[in-house]
Amino acid sequence: MTFSLTSPFRKTFSNSLREKGLRPTKQRECVYGIILDKRDHPTADDIYYRVKKYLPGTSFATVYNCLETLVGCGLVRQVNMDRSPTRYCPNLTPHAHFKCNKTGRIYDIQIDEDTLSRMNALVPQGFEAENIDLSFSGTGNALEN
Ligand SMILES: [Zn+2]
Repeated sequence: MTFSLTSPFRKTFSNSLREKGLRPTKQRECVYGIILDKRDHPTADDIYYRVKKYLPGTSFATVYNCLETLVGCGLVRQVNMDRSPTRYCPNLTPHAHFKCNKTGRIYDIQIDEDTLSRMNALVPQGFEAENIDLSFSGTGNALEN
């Protein structure tokens, strides 16, 4: 069984890698596809176990290298919360994260243009933000989907 990306993602994937002079390998495609598939902010371990279902011979080191490559190409971003292991997110639009303290699940919170510009205005004079890393955590009664 192989993992194939759907067409818009496939194009973004190969273009982003080629821009960096890298080849779109089967492993890289599989790792990227898995992150896009569930969008549950998996850790490297989670991704490794999912990759094994498609490419059983893949080592953890290979998965880790693929992740580094995908982050380096700007296809995936790293999410670091508390002291927990790094998670991976394919949502490249400006967004914050919300972690449910009960379930450990992480949700994307979209940041609209207005909020984004107000947050950028908080940056010290003479500087410009290239990246915003904002996270919330808490509990609630929202239904898990
Ligand atoms: Zn995210």
